Amino acid sequence: MTTERDRQPWRLHIDWTRCEGRGLCIELLAGTLARDDWGFPRARDHGDPAIGRYQLAAARDAVALCPRLALTLRK
Ligand code: SF4
Repeated sequence: MTTERDRQPWRLHIDWTRCEGRGLCIELLAGTLARDDWGFPRARDHGDPAIGRYQLAAARDAVALCPRLALTLRK
């Protein structure tokens, strides 16, 4: 059975107290994240960016590989 929560997109949350702007996540999710003037990731839209089905594997890689453990995927 599919619930309302199942239909909501995954969202990528960046913990700004941890991120040091090294940019790995920007390279893995180039269509979703851009680099700001200081080298930190910023969502191409506002807030925590939605992660589509085809980006989910790359987003999970970014979460696992972030050197500062600053990324989480949330519903
Ligand atoms: S990979 Fe982690 S530390 Fe690097 S820019 Fe992304 S969130 Fe920040």
